[in-house]
Amino acid sequence: MKRYTKLTLAIVLSSVLFTGCISSKDDQNRKIDNNIKDNESVLKTVYENDNKYNEIDSNLDSLEVPGNLDKEDDFEENEIKEIDLQEIKPNEVGQIMVLMYHGLGNEERAYVRTRENFKEDLQLLYEKGYRLISLKDYINNDIDTEAGKTPVVLTFDDGNITDFNIKINEKGEKIIDPNCVIGILEEFNKKYPDFGLEATFSIFGQNPFRQKNLIDYKLKYIIDKGMDIGNHTYSHNNLSSLSEDDIQRTLAKNVEFIQGYLPDYEVNILALPYGIRPKNEEKRKYLFSGSFDGVEYKNIGALAVGWKPEYASIHKKFDYRYIHRVHGSSERFGIRYWLEYFDNHPEKRYISDGDKDIVTLLEAQKEVVDEDKLGDKDLRTYSLEEKSE
Ligand SMILES: [Zn+2]
Repeated sequence: MKRYTKLTLAIVLSSVLFTGCISSKDDQNRKIDNNIKDNESVLKTVYENDNKYNEIDSNLDSLEVPGNLDKEDDFEENEIKEIDLQEIKPNEVGQIMVLMYHGLGNEERAYVRTRENFKEDLQLLYEKGYRLISLKDYINNDIDTEAGKTPVVLTFDDGNITDFNIKINEKGEKIIDPNCVIGILEEFNKKYPDFGLEATFSIFGQNPFRQKNLIDYKLKYIIDKGMDIGNHTYSHNNLSSLSEDDIQRTLAKNVEFIQGYLPDYEVNILALPYGIRPKNEEKRKYLFSGSFDGVEYKNIGALAVGWKPEYASIHKKFDYRYIHRVHGSSERFGIRYWLEYFDNHPEKRYISDGDKDIVTLLEAQKEVVDEDKLGDKDLRTYSLEEKSE
């Protein structure tokens, strides 16, 4: 008879800080007030920005325990695979961090990471067995991570110059600033090629990365490196305050702008400005498809802000319409908090089986799989053996 440890988890989150999503370096710097409500260990977060907008997100339920793991001993498998599974313990319905950064700076703030902390984040992720995947592959459950490792997603909003800065040397050559995000990521990837280089930069407006004569070079560079560009609207709008027409206008105009440089690139990720979406379901559908002035767009996912990891996209609770992120900052529930959390709760973490065509998880968690999302992948379940003493 096998015996499993029942998982208990009681985390009381008492406060979370949210602030605006444009760094103070931007002209459009806005103030966002934070109000936090704690409702008997269920977090409800109230955003209030200067447009007097409120949204209560009461669907924050990822901290609940995945059912009782006690199971009957009815599992038989090929013996060699069984040993691998017992060692690697794949959990392909486990949680994944979508990290949210904005810019880098000399001082740590809500939306600014110091370069030292950013480099240390990468180092910690690598050492703790996290490997980069693209946001699109995450949403599409197209995960090709090495066995035993955990996928992680990097996102950068607003197109700050500290994300991608170029210097021109005396010969007129373009040199990527080794202290900007792209420079740091490439340097890290040289040192640790198996870490990956995937990242999504969600941009808005007419001057992404703030060097106007280098927009073309930068956008192409990002795509050529296998990184992605996301839609952060054209005017960095609070989408809850816009009409259906204006939602489509701001999304389509940004797609038009990006495709002006990258005609064949599919812009299909939306980073919600301030993490805010319309309350009205009718309006929300325009976040995912619409058109304006003959420009059509389709989004496969929308990114919220802060404060928690997400489910694997094959999990029944995954909602591509509002993908939670983890702050890449020193905010209370930022990256370091969750790294420690997963150190202490390894069973919560997505662990890859190393096989792209198979989805492997504990028999006890079979019910959480949304089988419609399996596609042509095979589902494999297993049970953990009791360790002999
Ligand atoms: Zn933003």
